[in-house]
Parts: sequence; structure tokens; C-alpha cells
Amino acid sequence: MHYEGKIYRPWPEANSLLIQTTIGCTNNKCTFCDMFREKKFSIRELEDVFQDIEEARRMYPRVESIFLIDGNVLVVKTDFLLQVLEKTKETFPENKRIALYGGLNDFERKSVEELKQLNQAGLTMAYAGLESGDPLVLERIKKGMTVEQALAGMEKAKAAGIEMLLSFIFGLGGKEGSREHIVETTRLLNLMQPEEIAPMALTIQPGTELEREVEAGEFILPTPLQILEEEKYLLENLSFPTMYWGDHGNNIVPMCGRLPETQQLFLEKIEHTIATHPVTKEETLQTFAW
Ligand code: SF4
Repeated sequence: MHYEGKIYRPWPEANSLLIQTTIGCTNNKCTFCDMFREKKFSIRELEDVFQDIEEARRMYPRVESIFLIDGNVLVVKTDFLLQVLEKTKETFPENKRIALYGGLNDFERKSVEELKQLNQAGLTMAYAGLESGDPLVLERIKKGMTVEQALAGMEKAKAAGIEMLLSFIFGLGGKEGSREHIVETTRLLNLMQPEEIAPMALTIQPGTELEREVEAGEFILPTPLQILEEEKYLLENLSFPTMYWGDHGNNIVPMCGRLPETQQLFLEKIEHTIATHPVTKEETLQTFAW
């Protein structure tokens, strides 16, 4: 198996076989992210991907879940991706699901017909970074995606039957923009209604543009209390059924479960933390790098 550079996968994919299909991310500019900074985006040779798939078959007698890496794999041509999916299907007939990283703007650029073909070839799920529903935040972090593109991409994914997990970041609006960020993010999520969501507290990755902005006083970090208030607002106002992956290691109250069944319980936990936890008196949240 060949993996180039640092490898990332979402935490719910801990037991999946990782097949590297692309190297890096086409945007690679988000101010908070250093995942693929050392990589120049490229698409691997199809033959090399096939060789890895065959080698994995020799190594693993049973594979039930596959995750295609690196960054936005969905950006590659549909025909290329169909060949990768078909190869995995014939090599791992026992496999139950295939997921990948794909930007909502990558979804928006493909036709529903293409996405349906990918779904029929085995693509069941995609992980996309929404980060924020606030257009000003999206612009400031250089996400390279508008709210309109995000909405259109989600609509196409739904039409094609591909499930989506959207991640977003508590605190990304900073101290001043905290309320606007969470109000707009919650509003957008309620419109999009993704099957799964993963909120995580902002961490400052060393060497990123956001770190420089923090040091220069251009971005003021939100307090831990503001981050908790954002999660409280989210849980009070989300109005669709979804899987809540709020158990990222940087979250103040790690919680994971289905909404709306666990929504009230999660809300009570946040309210209790706001009322009793000493972290609410601190100026900044201690987090660790990804
Ligand atoms: S957050 Fe996603 S889109 Fe932005 S640079 Fe990182 S991997 Fe690329």
C-alpha cells in the first residue's frame, strides 16, 4: 500500500480501509487548516490505485468499509472515480460501504446524473467541511465556497442518494462574530438537513494563516463560554433528524448520538456545563492540534 505524506481520515472512519486516490486538496487555502499544506494537489495514476486495492485484498481477508483519501476526492473526473469504485466492488464483494472526502462545491459542479452513477457504483457517503453558514466567515477563512454553492451541492447529493456528513467549527466567527456564525450555520443546516453532522471546537493549528491572524490581533479567539453558548444555540434550534458526532477530542462536552432522541439530554449537559464548569471563567480554550 502506498500513502503519500500525512494521512487524515474522519474519526468515524477509524475501521475503514484507506485507499489513496488523490494527493492533497485543490483548495489548500483555508486559513485554519494545515492538513495538506506540504502537498501539491494531484490525482494518482489509476494503475497505482488498482495496485493498492489488490495489495489490500491480499492483506485483509474481510473488508466492510472503505474510505477514499486525500482531500476532495470528488473533484476527479466521474469516469475515473467510477473505475475506482468498480474495482473496489469486484475486489471486495463483501464490502458494505464506500465514503470519501468531497467538497459541497465539488458536488455542485457534478450533474445529478453523474452523482447517481457514483452512488450506483457503490459510493454511499461523503464527508464535507461546511465550517460555517455565515458568508462573511466563509470568505474570511478562504473556503472557496459560497453558501449558495453549499446549498446546491447538498441538494444534488440528496437527489443522488449519497449521504452527507457535514463538519463545522464552533468559534470560527471569533469573539465578535460568534453569534452570527452559529445563527447562520444553524439556519443553513436546517435548510440542508444532512444525515450526519460533526461540530468541533476551533483549534489553532501551528503555522496556519489563522495562527498569524491571532498573533497579529486580527482574529480574537472566542472564550470557552462563547463556544458552549454556540453549542447551546445549535441544540436549541436544530430542527431535523440527524446523527450528532459532537465527540471530537477538542469539544468541551464530547457527545455523540441521534437527534432528536438525544437532543434534550445533550442540551441539558451543555446548560449544566455552562452553569458549573470552571472552563467558563477562562479566556481561551485549551485544544490540541489535529
Ligand atoms: S479545510 Fe478542507 S478545503 Fe480547506 S484547505 Fe483544508 S482540506 Fe482543503
